[in-house]
Amino acid sequence: MSIADKSKDKLADPVCKKSKQNARTKTVATLGPVSLNQPMMEQLIQNGVDVFRLNMAHGNRQKHQQAIEDIRAASKSVGREVAILVDLAGPKIRLGQMPVEPIMIETGSQIRFVRTATDDPRDLTCSYERLIDDVKVGDPIMLCDGTVRTVVESKESDGIVCRVVDGGEIRSRQGVNLPGAELSVQALQEVDRENAIWAAENGADFVSLSFVRSSDEINELIDVIRQAGGHALVVAKIEKREALKNIESIVRVADGIMVARGDLGVEIEIEKTPLAQKTIIDTCRKYAKPVIVATQMLESMRYSKMPTRAEATDVANAILDGADACMLSGETAIGEYPIDAVRTMQKIMIETEQLLRGRPSEICDVCHEGDNLVSQAILQAAADIARKVNAHLVAVATSNGDAALIKSKQRDFIPTIALTDSIETLRRMNLFWGVTPLFFDEMGKGNKGVIPFVQNWVDQHHALSKGDRMVFVVDTELWPGVNDMVLVSEY
Ligand code: PEP
Repeated sequence: MSIADKSKDKLADPVCKKSKQNARTKTVATLGPVSLNQPMMEQLIQNGVDVFRLNMAHGNRQKHQQAIEDIRAASKSVGREVAILVDLAGPKIRLGQMPVEPIMIETGSQIRFVRTATDDPRDLTCSYERLIDDVKVGDPIMLCDGTVRTVVESKESDGIVCRVVDGGEIRSRQGVNLPGAELSVQALQEVDRENAIWAAENGADFVSLSFVRSSDEINELIDVIRQAGGHALVVAKIEKREALKNIESIVRVADGIMVARGDLGVEIEIEKTPLAQKTIIDTCRKYAKPVIVATQMLESMRYSKMPTRAEATDVANAILDGADACMLSGETAIGEYPIDAVRTMQKIMIETEQLLRGRPSEICDVCHEGDNLVSQAILQAAADIARKVNAHLVAVATSNGDAALIKSKQRDFIPTIALTDSIETLRRMNLFWGVTPLFFDEMGKGNKGVIPFVQNWVDQHHALSKGDRMVFVVDTELWPGVNDMVLVSEY
């Protein structure tokens, strides 16, 4: 490789040892039967996965426990700490166990929802005990991610009869959606509480809650995690009409947001989903919260080595909208080409991000509540200085990751490393757009060690050329713990 090629390579992959692909947008990959093993996790990390999602709606405690151990071992083996997101099922309604499965329910035929399971395959049960009492004649009941549509035709004391409007294949444990219905069900089910405590005790970095409706539900989950001694950040999955109505208050209290398009696209009209995605992302930008766009991003890659043009465009549009991360679901959990899906997503991200380069960087003016205004002002000044001095690297020292998040939301293209002496912070920064987390165990000794540490790291990774400028955002003895100083140095 010529020197010119090398320097091009250096620019494309400026700060991270991660791999040759190094998109600024982060990748969340859902684990499932095809990926719940350490060798596969290692490959996924090497190809660009930043966060693994464990879906609590599937598997059991033993499998989840093993997954956490495997992820941590895979991270160690690859040499990059990734984050773990534990996804709580929340009040998601699911079909009960069917006597035979799958079954095909034909358009025009009838099915029944019953209180107690029978041997008749057309008698369905579900996890929402009050379903039969709560629905009215004429209400839609959707199965199989909304692809199978039924309407309540009549009610009996022990069940309801539904007419199948759009038929299809159904199987046990599939989701059931009652679009528009306001259910009297608790957001945090007993099983969610148990799973949240388990996640806290096992060092999960993020815990997400499905079917969130209000900020109170997020506060409740935060309490459960903190009481269990956990440090996990809480992600609200937006997939209900009520959540869209309360989006501003939910974004303010949550640490992050997921646009959970799978259920959202059933709970609201499908044609309203694209604009809902944009509104959610815009609100996250306003409050400087990371946002993940999820579901069906490269869906066809479950069976094909290539995505459709529409899927590639969907990933690109999510990035242009301002997503911090894109999520793979079935593609990496049960698909035939999990590695190709991650690689393809990386390629689309890298290509699309070129367009963001032309945009002016964003001034992030809204702090997280309780955030330190000084750090925020310093980070804005640092961005300005970095641009003016044509810096090739920005290094931010951070104890809890907040400074790195604000930096990330500025969306400039100057490679950014975030130094921390906290392993929890190191892992959570995997979700922050454009931030490369680095472990620096001498934070406690003041800022003096930061510059030699970064210089040494740059040497090792050939990240800069002689004379390249670096901008450091650090704290001083005058105000420990607050990023109160900007330094400029030449390599
Ligand atoms: C979704 O509905 O888009 C989602 C991410 O949730 P789940 O995969 O649990 O259905």
